Amino acid sequence: MERPDDAPDRRPPSFQHLLYHSGWLGHEPPAPPAPDIPRWARLSRKLFFVTLRTEKYRPNHLVTLRNKRDGWDQDVFGAYYTDEAGAGGRWVFGLDPARYPKSLALRFVLDRAKPMQQGDVTVDVAAGAAAAFSDEEITFADPEPRYVHPYDNLTTTTTKIQQDAVPSNFDESVVYDVIVIGSGMGGAVLADGLTDTHNRRVLVLEAGSLVHQTHIDNLPGYEHNLVAAWNHQVGNYVNRPGSTLMFGVQMNLGGRSVYWEGLIPRMQDWELVHWPANVGTHLLGPYGYERAERLLRKCRTLGTYQDRLVRKLRRRFCDLHVTDLPRSVHQPNISRRGCWRPRWSITEVTETSTGVFSTADLLLDSLSFGGPVGGDLLTVNLNHLVTGIETVGDEARAVVCQDLAGGVERRYRGRAIVLAAGSLESPRIALASGLTDPNNLVGVGLTDHPAFFGSHGYQLLPSSRFRGAEHHAKVLLWHKGGAAHPYNVELLVNPQYWLARHADDDVFRQMTDTQGVTWVAIKFLTDSPLDDSNRIHYLGPAQKLEVEVRPNNTGIHLQAEVIDLRNRILEYLGADFVPSDGIDYAAFGTVHHAGGSLRMSSDHSGVVDENLKFEYYRNLYCCDVSVFPHIPTANPSLTLVALAQRLADYLGTMSG
Ligand SMILES: Cc1cc2nc3c(=O)[nH]c(=O)nc-3n(C[C@H](O)[C@H](O)[C@H](O)COP(=O)(O)OP(=O)(O)OC[C@H]3O[C@@H](n4cnc5c(N)ncnc54)[C@H](O)[C@@H]3O)c2cc1C
Repeated sequence: MERPDDAPDRRPPSFQHLLYHSGWLGHEPPAPPAPDIPRWARLSRKLFFVTLRTEKYRPNHLVTLRNKRDGWDQDVFGAYYTDEAGAGGRWVFGLDPARYPKSLALRFVLDRAKPMQQGDVTVDVAAGAAAAFSDEEITFADPEPRYVHPYDNLTTTTTKIQQDAVPSNFDESVVYDVIVIGSGMGGAVLADGLTDTHNRRVLVLEAGSLVHQTHIDNLPGYEHNLVAAWNHQVGNYVNRPGSTLMFGVQMNLGGRSVYWEGLIPRMQDWELVHWPANVGTHLLGPYGYERAERLLRKCRTLGTYQDRLVRKLRRRFCDLHVTDLPRSVHQPNISRRGCWRPRWSITEVTETSTGVFSTADLLLDSLSFGGPVGGDLLTVNLNHLVTGIETVGDEARAVVCQDLAGGVERRYRGRAIVLAAGSLESPRIALASGLTDPNNLVGVGLTDHPAFFGSHGYQLLPSSRFRGAEHHAKVLLWHKGGAAHPYNVELLVNPQYWLARHADDDVFRQMTDTQGVTWVAIKFLTDSPLDDSNRIHYLGPAQKLEVEVRPNNTGIHLQAEVIDLRNRILEYLGADFVPSDGIDYAAFGTVHHAGGSLRMSSDHSGVVDENLKFEYYRNLYCCDVSVFPHIPTANPSLTLVALAQRLADYLGTMSG
């Protein structure tokens, strides 16, 4: 076979990419210029790209690529991207030049059945290059009419494994105790709590399909996992001019819980003053954070190096609290009892490790078994995109959705209905349904917390006593001075050891080999009030949301203090750094931690009350990061899970 001269780049991702993908870099590392190619594609291997610019054949249809080399019957799948300005979109396909001849005949195919009407086209395959087409030159005969939705890369699949694992119930005459919209962190934890603890009959409506059965870090494959998180992002909004919201969401069974990084710090006492007092008291009690940490399988130990580092940092920095960075991560079944000293050890089995927690795992586990804690009371309908809530007076009566696989509209009824579709999609459903909103705050205030990033990583000097390529640690620090110093510090030493599970030890060694260097990364997350000038605009069922999210400068006044603390920590660790260097301040938001778009209050001034019930409605609730009344320094998922468990108790103990 003829091979291109330009061999594909199979090196492992750079440290910068590694940090970037795990959320550590506030901006994209430099990549070679490649016009008309989205960011994700430029980050992966050096590929040859084929693009089809089209508005007609959007993701309610599937466009694939077939080629002569693969025998004309194999589909190459791509991804659809809308331009930032929302001006149009294109399908993008990446081909590995090592697999294809330099001159390649190919054709586009619609819905895996209808080849393009123009016959084949021939392209010159070269790494990093692209061949661009548009729907003016490429057409398909009689596309089947389908519901037109605005979600780029929303995957709709029907497979036997999905049907076996997640059996649907299309009977629209059933009246469920609770209908939950969305199977992400908030929705699935709520649904599981309602069925397991409170014997309620629950229907979960999820727009996406079964994409992964577990968190991607529980699967072998490192580069694949990073690229998967990026590739599976659904484009559901565009920024209005001047708006800076970054990244898309994932819409599939488990939502973003299948891709999250697993950091689960609690909010500090001083942050709880922004929350209803009853919620704060609950979070600090035994059924609050503590219960949520158990469900999320809070990591017990990262080993002796980490223990030593935490001890020494505590002694050195009397002004700071220092702990292990709390993480949801796979650990052996370990217990504290039965040991000669109070350390965790593998002596007794107390719980089964789920690896990094995901709600795909949680729901699939339930659905696999009978009984009330299994699948008897739980139904999950995948590929059901909710488009509206039907209300009569102050009662939410039914949920209207599009069955994207069946191609029909369906209507399900529940005694209580819960929006758990995420901080953009829940307001979208609320706005599309024209819900009564006494304080005019639906979709207002979407805010993320700002962050400071201490460079792309520092090396420890040969003289450092913390040096050692085999060492690794993840530490959380925060100031004892409370609200006057509102930030969390995440400090990582050689983080690559804990980024993914490897089945192949040789690959593990390759991926963790730093060639003798001990890397340190440091990041500061601050809190933020909701910015009321931020807004989500709903333009219609086939249109993407438009968002206005201003740069968030609420943390900028901490810059000098943060640089000083960075310098003190790096100096103590013995890192190679320049004290006078500035620090990157990320004022742009990402949708991952952004919330507040359906805020809660205890005085009826918000969208939902402290029990997460919409102010005007007696049986309509929200259970996702939208309800946050203030954006904490802490990553949001632990708090969301605790809120979901609380809502399950609340709805579960209501009569009816
Ligand atoms: C790469 C990455 C790293 C992260 N790291 C961390 C971390 O370390 N710590 C942390 O706390 N948080 C982290 N997060 C953020 C965290 O994952 C999210 O905040 C959290 O999962 C949000 O949960 P949710 O239930 O609100 O929304 P989602 O997980 O987005 O769930 C919403 C669900 O609703 C479905 N849905 C949406 N619209 C509709 C509709 N119309 N009809 C039916 N279904 C619909 C979606 O398909 C989805 O399954 C990270 C996120 C990402 C992507």
